[in-house]
Amino acid sequence: MRGHQQQFIWNLEDSRSNFVYNDTRRSRGYDNLMKFDNTYAQLPEIFYQKVHPSSAIDPKLIKLNEELINLLEINERDVSYFSGQKLFDGSIPIAMAYSGHQFGHFNPTLGDGRAILLGEVLGKDGVRYDLHLKGSGPTKYSRRGDGLSGLGPVIREYIVSEAMHSLGVPTTRALSITLTGREVMRQDLQPGASMIRIAKGHIRVGTFEYFLYHNDGVNLQKLIDYSINRFNPELTEHKDKNFEFFKVTARKKLKLVAKWMGLGFIHGVMNTDNTNISGETIDYGPCAFMDQYKNDKVFSSIDRMSRYAYSNQGHIALWNLSRFGNCFIPLSSNQEAEVEKYNNELRELEEFYQNEKLKIMTKKLGIFEAKSSDIEIVNKFLTQMENNHQDFTNTFRNLPKNLDDYPYLKERLNQQDQVLEEAYELMNSVNPYIIPRNHQVEKAIQHACRGDYGLLNELNQALSTPYIENQAYEKFTLPPKPEEIVHQTFCGT
Ligand code: AMP
Ligand code: MG
Repeated sequence: MRGHQQQFIWNLEDSRSNFVYNDTRRSRGYDNLMKFDNTYAQLPEIFYQKVHPSSAIDPKLIKLNEELINLLEINERDVSYFSGQKLFDGSIPIAMAYSGHQFGHFNPTLGDGRAILLGEVLGKDGVRYDLHLKGSGPTKYSRRGDGLSGLGPVIREYIVSEAMHSLGVPTTRALSITLTGREVMRQDLQPGASMIRIAKGHIRVGTFEYFLYHNDGVNLQKLIDYSINRFNPELTEHKDKNFEFFKVTARKKLKLVAKWMGLGFIHGVMNTDNTNISGETIDYGPCAFMDQYKNDKVFSSIDRMSRYAYSNQGHIALWNLSRFGNCFIPLSSNQEAEVEKYNNELRELEEFYQNEKLKIMTKKLGIFEAKSSDIEIVNKFLTQMENNHQDFTNTFRNLPKNLDDYPYLKERLNQQDQVLEEAYELMNSVNPYIIPRNHQVEKAIQHACRGDYGLLNELNQALSTPYIENQAYEKFTLPPKPEEIVHQTFCGT
C-alpha cells in the first residue's frame, strides 16, 4: 500500500463546509427543524450500500425517548418515520460495510446486516449524531440472516443503553422502539421490532480492517481522514495525524472499558466490529451486569472459551486496539519504524488502562487520591466479596454501613485529609443504587412480548437517576431469587 498516501486526495474543504452548513442554519432562523445530513454517504460507494428499510408492514410505536426527540429537534411523530416506512426529510439510507475479528477470527465480510444508517442530525448540543435503524430488513451484508430483530433484544438495548447513559458511561442511545407487525423466529417465535439508536458515530475498528483486508490504502486513509474530521478536527493539520488519532481513540476506548469494570458490566461480544471508535458502548446483544461478584463471570451463550469474561475485558480491549493499530502501519513509508512506534504505544496504553481502572475502583472505595499500593486494597476487597458470594452493586453501595467489615480499607480512609462522611459521599456518587439487573430486564421483555409495557417504562424511569436512593424503586435493587437468576444471555441474532 506504500505510496497510496500521495495518490489520495481528500477534499477537506468540501466536508468542512458541510459541517458548517448545519451550524449556521441555526442563526438563519431554521430553529426547531431537524435537518438531515449524510456525510458518510458522500464517501465512495465501497463504504456502503444504498438501501431502503423494508421490515415494517403494520408498525406500532411503543416507545419514544422524549429527551432525544427534543435534543434532535425531531418534529415528526408518525410511526412511519420511526419504522422506516417513510424517510425523514433529507435522509439517504445506507448499510455500512465493515469486517471484524469475531472471537479472535477474522471475518472479512460483515457490515450492517440488520441495520441501516438513516443519516446524521446535529443535536442542540452541537454534536453530530447518527440515526441508525436496527431490525430494518435485509441488506447486501445480511449473509444468511433475515435482517430482522425480535422485540426482546430491542427492549434489552433500550433499557440497558439508556441506563448506561444515566450511569455516566458513553454509549449509543435509544430513540424509539416500533413493532414491525411481523413475527421473527429466534429461540422462539417473537414479535418483530425495530429501534432507532443514535450514536456519535458507527465507525468501528472493523471498518478500518475492511479496507486493510482489501489492500485499499486510498480509502483507508479516506476513512481515517473522515474520522479525524468528525471526531478530532483539532488533529487535521497535525504532521503525524494518523498516529495521534490512534492514540486518542485508543484512550477513549480504554477509559470506556475501565468504566464498565467499575459497574460490573460485561459486554459479552467485544469483537472488533463492535468496537466503536467514537468511544461509545455499542451492541447490547448478550451484555449483562453482574449480580453476585465473580471475577471471571461470563454470560454469553456463545462465549464458550470465556474470551469476553469480566476479568478479560481490559486485555481484549488492548487486543482489539492492536488490530486497530495494524490498520495504520501500511500507510507509512517506513513500516518497520511504524511497527515499533505502535507497539511502544500499546505498552503505554496498557499502563494507561491499569491506571484508569485503579482510579475508578479506588473512588468506589472512597479513596480520593489513588496510590499505586491501593491496588492491594482493591484486590483484597474484591477477593473478600467473591469468597463471600456477595452482590457487586449492593456491596459497594452499602459500604458506608459496613465499613467495619473491611478494617484495611477503614485504616486507609482514615489516613486521608477528608473525613469519612466525605468518603461516603464520594462512594455514593460513583456506586449506583440501581442498575439494570438481568432478571428485571428479562421480566420487562416477557411482559412486553405479551403487550404490557408497564415494567419497561417503570424500569426505564427508575434507571434514569441511578445514583439516587428511592424507596419506590427498592424492588429493582434486589438481587434475583434463585429461581429468577438468568444464567445465560443471547445475541440479538
Ligand atoms: P453482532 O454479533 O450483533 O455484532 O452481528 C455480527 C454481524 O452479523 C453483523 O454484520 C450483523 O449485521 C450481522 N447480523 C446479526 N444478526 C443478523 C440478522 N438477523 N440478519 C442479518 N444480519 C445479521
Ligand atoms: Mg454488532
